[in-house]
Amino acid sequence: MRASTAFRRLAALAAGAWREAAGLLFPADCACCGAEDTALCAGCGQALRAAAAKPFRAEAAAPVLVEPDGRVLLVAVAAGHYRAELARAVLAYKNHGRGDLAPVLAGCLAGALAAALGPGDAGGMVLVPVPASGRSFRRRGFDPVLDLLRELARTDGLPRGCRVQPVLRYRARRPFAGRAQKGLGRARRRLNVRGTLRVRASWTQRLAGVPCVVVDDVLTTGATAAEAARALRQAGAVVAGAVVLAAAGAAPRPGIQGQARGSTEGAGGGGKI
Ligand SMILES: [Zn+2]
Repeated sequence: MRASTAFRRLAALAAGAWREAAGLLFPADCACCGAEDTALCAGCGQALRAAAAKPFRAEAAAPVLVEPDGRVLLVAVAAGHYRAELARAVLAYKNHGRGDLAPVLAGCLAGALAAALGPGDAGGMVLVPVPASGRSFRRRGFDPVLDLLRELARTDGLPRGCRVQPVLRYRARRPFAGRAQKGLGRARRRLNVRGTLRVRASWTQRLAGVPCVVVDDVLTTGATAAEAARALRQAGAVVAGAVVLAAAGAAPRPGIQGQARGSTEGAGGGGKI
């Protein structure tokens, strides 16, 4: 391990320990409404669970995942829409040190995974989290998506026949590093992140024919999920789709939602991928 890597990990560990200690020293207020001395008040907890109660197919609102002719490049299932309590909880968990929200958000993710994979044994499906980039890992001191999946693994909350493998990582040199996605067209968004992820060296020879699902927190343009799928497929993995906590795209109008549901049923029912 290079000294810089060791130092980064040490700094991240220290940041994680501080988060935990701070949580004990200063009892948190509700992450959604600010009600005092409760990590998530009863009303917001209920609203959060309701927001994630009906996972849905979300790729239609992620421009990079659908060709202009409507062909779906990567199926995505979301636990809920990125708004209100769900958005506030995800932000508080990722950016404001609210690791205490991991169990409730992991529960939301579990619902989406179950909807995506359907009942029964998932047949050795590998859940691959989109990794935190080196910069955000250093800033936050943890890996948000991996930690949610680990929480589910620890509490026996993963769909049967699944396992979690963090096989992806960001390349040290990112060809388009730092360029914001906002304001870019669909093709540029895909190019903007292309080549930024790679399969860990220890896994490149072990993914041929392995069924995988990409897991991420928020689906926006779909560029990151598509890049994760590209890197996995390049190593020979069979990517079934993506599962996310929240979809940031505009909520479909009722008529469109009806159509989407109809096409989803053709693909296996519910939010199945
Ligand atoms: Zn509240």
